[in-house]
Order: sequence, then structure tokens, then C-alpha cells
Amino acid sequence: MIIHLKPGSKQIEQMAQELEAIVIKDPDKTILVNSSSCKEIPPKFDEMVDAFFVFDSDIQLAHFKYTSAKRSIHIGQNQIGGHSGNTLMIAGPCSVESLEQIEQTASLLNELKLNCLRAGSFKPRTSPYSFQGMGEDGLKILREVCDKNHFSLFSEVRDSTHVNAVIEYADVIQIGAKSMYSHGILHACAKTQKPVLLKRGFGTSLQEFVQAAEFILSGGNMNVILCERGIRTFETKTRFTLDLCGVAYLKEYTNLPIILDPSHAIGYAYGVPDLTRACFAMGVDGLLIEVHPNPKVAKSDASQQLSHNEFRNLYESLKPLASALNRNLI
Ligand code: PEP
Ligand code: MN
Repeated sequence: MIIHLKPGSKQIEQMAQELEAIVIKDPDKTILVNSSSCKEIPPKFDEMVDAFFVFDSDIQLAHFKYTSAKRSIHIGQNQIGGHSGNTLMIAGPCSVESLEQIEQTASLLNELKLNCLRAGSFKPRTSPYSFQGMGEDGLKILREVCDKNHFSLFSEVRDSTHVNAVIEYADVIQIGAKSMYSHGILHACAKTQKPVLLKRGFGTSLQEFVQAAEFILSGGNMNVILCERGIRTFETKTRFTLDLCGVAYLKEYTNLPIILDPSHAIGYAYGVPDLTRACFAMGVDGLLIEVHPNPKVAKSDASQQLSHNEFRNLYESLKPLASALNRNLI
């Protein structure tokens, strides 16, 4: 249950304790949230209650029924969600590898008038023998290039030991598929007001995914964006299976903006353009695409990164779709 308290309410702590609720202190109101199994408020608290909302599962702050409109999130000069009709293009390499590589990426983005750069510096690899990322040095490179070009930086956090560094350097904190369950990360991201891009774990149900978002929301950060990036199925010809049915569910039942990541879903560059167009056609709030100046030598996810030319062609091909869909591709 979500309870909005009347301004000036006293005994908030007592009510929260009795209902086993989390207290969210919004600038204009105090909100209590407890388990969705709670359906009634004891009458003694009646005079404190402004409004309350009952749910059938612990998807509550993220539920469309709660706000009845998409949440609006500001990322640098851009807005997504709300009534913006914007689809944000976020592009860049899987990993930051050098200053030169990121400068090349920056000139591609400038050429296409895009301003959201993605690159990871703490890479959550499946093998300890693969490139693990440049760590804080990479974040410094990314920050420098983004500041110089007025870009917003999306960068991922691998574990809670460096979550504060990522919060400091990035404009949007990406929580990777393998880190989605890390409570240390979720709690740290709840304490900042920076937007958080939460990726769905590849073995995670939609309920578990949105409940992970609830940890951030109930901790006080309402700037959460969901990202579908493929789930594991029986299929081995592609890296993962992009769950577009899941995206339809998230669009219908949650109030959070949704970004799709076709690159990690298919895992092969040949399929990324078609898949990106399919994702865009779903009317989502953003697209996250891996692009590398020379994909063959990329230190991570080499098979799925588009070359700059492939990315240019893909971006061009989205423009007529944008007008057909009545969306602003930004
Ligand atoms: C990435 O974005 O480079 C990444 C590692 O993604 P995921 O967490 O979805 O595997
Ligand atoms: Mn990657």
C-alpha cells in the first residue's frame, strides 16, 4: 500500500512502525509504502491520511495505476517519459579503452547531433581472464570528453565497492544485468537523485525486475529507467532473446520510462539494425546501441558492436520511422 500523508502530520514514525512501512520524504509530501498485502489502514490514523493506493503485488511506486502517467526524467538537456514523445538515442562502445577511442565516438555523436554517450569502465565479465575495464581512469576519460562536448554519460556499475565513483562521474548510472540483484548498489542508487538505468537480469522475471526498481524508488530516487536487454532461453543461435512481450507488459503496467538494448540481446552486429527498428516501433523511451571505431579489435563485446558507418546507416533509417510513429528521435 502507498499512503500519502497530510502536510503537518504528526506520529509519522509511529504509523510507519506499526504498518512496517518505508517513509519517503518528498519535498511536498510524506509518503509511506508497505507490503501490498496490507489493504487497510487502522482508523486511528485516519486523520493523517490524504490518499492511499492498494495494489495486488509489490509493484507499487512503479505501477501505472499509481501515477496514471509515465514518469518524466531529465537527462542533461533531454527529457524522456512524461508526455515528451521522445526516444533517446544512447550510443558508444561497450568499454572505454582509450581517450582516442572516446574522442572518435564523440565526433560520431556530434556529426549526428546526438548527445548521450555510453561506455562502461567497470565491466562485469563472465571470465576473470577477459578485459575487466579501465576502472576509475576510464571514468575520468569519459567525464572529460562528455564535459568538453556537453554530452550526458551513461556508465555502468559492477559492484558496490565503486558505486560511489560511478555516481560521481556518470550522469546516468547503469546497473548491469548481472548486478541487478545487488542490494548494495540498489541502496546506493536510491540515495542519489541521478537517473538510474536498471537492466533486467537475463534470468529475471518481470515481477522481480520491477521489484528491484522498487528498491530504488522506495529509497527516495524516483528517476529510474527500465532496460530490457534480452533474457536467456533455449536458443543458442543468438546471444539472448529480446523479450518484446515483456516490454509491452512494462509499457502497460509500469510508470517508468523504458529503454531497449538490442546490441546485448542478439549479440551480433548483423542483427542490430533490424532489431533496433523493431524496438523503436514499440514506441520506447530510448535505445542503447554499442558502436566502436573498430569493432574487430574491441576489448569486450566485439561481435555485436556496430562500426561508425553501420551506425550512421542505422540512424538514418530510423528517421522516416520517427515521423511515421510520431516520435522525436533525439
Ligand atoms: C553493457 O551494457 O556493456 C553490459 C555489460 O550490459 P549487460 O549488463 O546488459 O550485460
Ligand atoms: Mn557490452
